[in-house]
Amino acid sequence: MTKRIFRSICLAALGVAAAAVVLFLLVLYDYFGGVQQQQLQMQTELAAQAVTNEGITYFDGLNSEQYRITWVAADGKVIYDNRSDSAAMENHLEREEIRAALLTGEGKSSRYSDTLMERALYAAKRLPDGSVIRLSVSQHTLLTLFLGMLQPICFIIIIAGVLSLVLASRLAKKIVEPLNALDLEQPLSNEGYDELSPLLHRIDSQQRQIKRQSEELAQKQKEFETVTENMTEGIILLNTKGEVIGINRAALRLFGADTAALGQHMLAINRSPQITELLAAAAAGRHAEKMLDIAGGRYQLILSPVNSGNVPSGAVLLVIDATEKEKAEQMRREFTANVSHELKTPLHTIAGSAELLANNMVKEADKMAFYQRIQAETQRMIRLVEDIIRLSHLDEGADDIKREPVDLLALAAETVKTLQPAAAKAQVSLTLAGEAAVIEGIPPLLQSIVYNLCDNAIKYNRAGGSVAVSVTRANGTVRLSVADTGIGIPAEYQERIFERFYRVDQSRSKELGGTGLGLAIVKHAARLHGAEIELKSAANAGATVTVIFPV
Ligand code: ADP
Repeated sequence: MTKRIFRSICLAALGVAAAAVVLFLLVLYDYFGGVQQQQLQMQTELAAQAVTNEGITYFDGLNSEQYRITWVAADGKVIYDNRSDSAAMENHLEREEIRAALLTGEGKSSRYSDTLMERALYAAKRLPDGSVIRLSVSQHTLLTLFLGMLQPICFIIIIAGVLSLVLASRLAKKIVEPLNALDLEQPLSNEGYDELSPLLHRIDSQQRQIKRQSEELAQKQKEFETVTENMTEGIILLNTKGEVIGINRAALRLFGADTAALGQHMLAINRSPQITELLAAAAAGRHAEKMLDIAGGRYQLILSPVNSGNVPSGAVLLVIDATEKEKAEQMRREFTANVSHELKTPLHTIAGSAELLANNMVKEADKMAFYQRIQAETQRMIRLVEDIIRLSHLDEGADDIKREPVDLLALAAETVKTLQPAAAKAQVSLTLAGEAAVIEGIPPLLQSIVYNLCDNAIKYNRAGGSVAVSVTRANGTVRLSVADTGIGIPAEYQERIFERFYRVDQSRSKELGGTGLGLAIVKHAARLHGAEIELKSAANAGATVTVIFPV
C-alpha cells in the first residue's frame, strides 16, 4: 500500500511539473511572439515613413541584420531586398501580407521554415505610391524554444523528481502510519480516519462472531473428546486419504500407538489385511466390518463412511473389544457339547437297561440291580439338570433375586445337618465351628456354596477323615472355610477345577455322583456376592476352600 501511494504521489508530482513546464513554455512563447510582432509592425511603420521620404536612397548604407527588408512594387515585382538579389526574386503579389497591405494598407502573416525550426513573421505597409514595404523577422518556434530550454527544463524536472520522491515517501508513510498502528484486537478503540469507521465496526462484529463460533466449536470439541476419551471402544477418524485425523485413548492403547499417530496413514499404525480392506471400503464409501486379533485379544472393526452432501469426506473406524464375547461364545459351545455328552451316558444306560427289562431278557435275580441302576442314573440326570438350571440362572445374572441379611453360621449349620448322613456313610466326621456373621446375600445361592464345598469335602475324603466347616469374621470380611483331610488337589489342577465339567479324576467323580458343575456354581455364586475364593491344597494333603465375603 505504501508503495502504491508513493508511486501515485510521484506520478502526480511529475505530471504536474511536466504540465507546468509545457504551459509555461506556451505562455512564454505566446507573449514573446506578441511583443516581437508589435516591434515588427513599429519598425515597418518607420521604414515605410523613411522610404516615402527618401525613396530608394534610404536603403543605401542601411545596416539591418535583424530584419529583412523588402520593397515590392504595386505589381508584385521586388524592387529591393536587403538579403537577396531583387532581380532574381519571384513576384511577391501572392504573398499573404503583401496582398493584405495592397488591399487594406497593412498586412501581416507568419510562415514556418521547411525544418519547422524557425518561423518568419511578416509585416507589410502600403506606401502612398502604391508600393509595399515589408519587414520580416525570424522567430524561434516552440520546438526550438523547447530544445533551447531543454537543459534548464531537465534540471527543473530532476529537482522536482527528487523533491517529489522525498515528499512522496514521507507522505506515503504518514498516510499508512495510522493504518499500521490499528489495533485489530479492539477495532473500536482506534482513532484515525473516519473513513475506516465502517470497516472497523465490521471487523469488530465479525470478530465477536468468530469468537462466539470458536467458543461453541471448542465446547463441542471438548464434549466430543470427553465422550470418546472415556469410551472403552476405540474410535479413529480418517480423512479421504486414509490419514488419521482423530484417535481416542482406547484406540491408541489398542494399536500400541502414541499421539504421533495423528496425521499418519492408518496403514502406518496397523498393516493387517483387514485394515487394508477396510480402507478400500472407505474409499468406495461403503460400510464394512472385520475381525482383527491384536495383542492376544479379538476385536471387531466397524467402518462407517462419512459423507458431506454426496461427497465422501472420510470415515469413522470403531474398534470394539470382542475378546470376552468370543470367549463366552466358545464357552457356550463347549458347555452345550459337554451337557449333551454328560446326558448321553446315563440315557444310554437307562435306555439299554429298560430295553432288556422290556424284552424280558433279564433273569429274575438280576432285575433288582437293573432297577437300581436305572434309578441311580435317573438321579444323576436329575442332579445334572438341576445344576445346569442353577448355572444358567446364575449366567442370567441373578440380579433380580432379592438380597437379604443372612447369618452364614446358621445357614451353614442347616446344610451341615442335611449332609451328616452322607458324611456318616463315607465315614467322615463333619463339624461346624465359628461365630454368627450376618451378610447381605441370596440364601439359595449361599446354600449351594456351602452344600457343594461340603459335598466335595466328603466325596473326595478318606474313610476316617474329617471335614471342618468354620465361619469367622476378620477385617471387615466374613470367611467361610471348608477344610478336609481328603485326597487333595495337585497344584496343576487347582486353577481348572472351577471350570464347568472339569474333573481331576473323571471316573471317581462320576462314581461318586458328581456332575462336574459344583465348583463352577460356587465360583459364580461367590462372584454374585462380590466374594473371593481361596484354595489351599496339595496332592494327598487335604484341601481347604475359603470364601471371603465383604460385609
Ligand atoms: P464334581 O461334581 O466332579 O465334584 P466339582 O466342580 O464340584 O465337580 O469339582 C470339580 C473337581 O474338583 C472334582 O471332580 C474333583 O476332582 C476336584 N475336587 C473338588 N473338591 C475337592 C476336594 N475337596 N478334594 C479333592 N478334590 C476336589
